[in-house]
Amino acid sequence: MMTIRRRGCSPLLCLWASLLPLVAPHGQIHHEPHVEGWPKLLLVSFDGFRWDYIDRVPTPNFRSIMDEGVKVENVENIYITKTLPNHLTLVTGLYAETHGIVANEMYDPILNQSFSMETDSIYDSRWWEQAVPLWVSVQKAGGRSGAAMWPGSDVKIHGTYPSQYLEYNSSVSFETRVQKIIEWFSAPEEEAVDFGVLYWEEPDESGHTLGPQSPLMDAVIAGIDEKLGFLLNELKRSGLDEKVNLIVTSDHGMAQLYPEKIIELDEYVERDTYSWVDKSPVVGILPKEGKLEEVYSLLVDANPNMVAYRKEHIPERLHYQHNVRIMPILLEAKEGWTIMQNRTEHFMLGNHGYDNTLRNMQPIFVARGPGFQQNYVKSSMRSVDLYPLMCHILSIRPLPNNGSLLNVQDLLSSQPTPLAPTPAHPSGPPKPSRYSYAPVVGSFIGVLLVLGFLVVYIIVVTLNQQPVLKHRSWEMSQPLLQEDIQL
Ligand SMILES: [Zn+2]
Repeated sequence: MMTIRRRGCSPLLCLWASLLPLVAPHGQIHHEPHVEGWPKLLLVSFDGFRWDYIDRVPTPNFRSIMDEGVKVENVENIYITKTLPNHLTLVTGLYAETHGIVANEMYDPILNQSFSMETDSIYDSRWWEQAVPLWVSVQKAGGRSGAAMWPGSDVKIHGTYPSQYLEYNSSVSFETRVQKIIEWFSAPEEEAVDFGVLYWEEPDESGHTLGPQSPLMDAVIAGIDEKLGFLLNELKRSGLDEKVNLIVTSDHGMAQLYPEKIIELDEYVERDTYSWVDKSPVVGILPKEGKLEEVYSLLVDANPNMVAYRKEHIPERLHYQHNVRIMPILLEAKEGWTIMQNRTEHFMLGNHGYDNTLRNMQPIFVARGPGFQQNYVKSSMRSVDLYPLMCHILSIRPLPNNGSLLNVQDLLSSQPTPLAPTPAHPSGPPKPSRYSYAPVVGSFIGVLLVLGFLVVYIIVVTLNQQPVLKHRSWEMSQPLLQEDIQL
């Protein structure tokens, strides 16, 4: 009875309220009381938007989100700091070694296939099945999602596309993508999306071409702020701005490169002794049969501006080892350096992919909406923590992941109701979805609790007529209290 009275409602109503999430039919998003109205969420990524870009030029639209919401100053993304691995991390909370998209260009020795974001191999589901993106979980929980060109969102993953999505086409304007997102969120309630993802290729492309230190980047950054302003205006115009939680982030930053800082592998090792997977600054080396020791010994001390790791010696902190798609030898350039086979290859003035603890590799993070605090600055977070945060806002139970809601819950406008802790996800393939068994277990516990409650309720009614035995009712209610807390 303690738990019931403490919450200030009648025993019957309170217990029933606590049981509702358990006995709700499978396929329902469990709306929790912390978000008034719609727990809706739009996740936006401006590719390659480095954390400090907003301070280079006036960025009034980024500022308005920060003033009305939150900003995180130091976001540690995941290794390697490339586009596909980090975008999948944002929607799974998993390191690359676990979600399986370990690079933009990959080789899988089990599939005996190569993957490249430049080819149709990107649409082969087998590359994406090691993890479950949030849009799939939202839909399995009975919600709807909409994706405007988020990397991987037009691939069938675990048998599912987003409820609404655009096939990737880089010539589709940002404004068209925004209008689609607005349309999907504004649809009649039974068709409206709960979770949206929106992707834009800039300022990454300009950062590669111009180099982040170029003064020409100022106009590019100002242009991104204008695009964000367009999104904010469209959200406001359609009445969504107070209903949709908005997160604006990125996959990685950008480092300045120098033509004199090029490492040419041809100086150190014969081309016919290895295959080269992915591109600078982190390159996977697959030695030819029987050539592992030879190739490694030639590369390990080849150049002071490049580290060569045997796969099993890649530092644990990078979480980049336990996947067959990570090659037997990994080369990593120091920041500012480029690895090539020789200088005839295309050179870029800006690049990313380096160590994720380097400040220049880190992205922006701002957010606003009914679920977030206002005018709040947080010093640091990890990008893997975003997934449990988004699950919380959407009121769905997260799948096993490498993040923690505890690390980021101070960003929220109200503190979360304690849930069962999210299991840390070690290496290896993801565990089966909880959705396969959770409703059955939940319903079973629910029935038990209802029966238990009825027994307690009868006893309480009886004891109310027998005051001398009252303390015993409290003892008997303890199991109910504990069950309630674990929900
Ligand atoms: Zn890029």
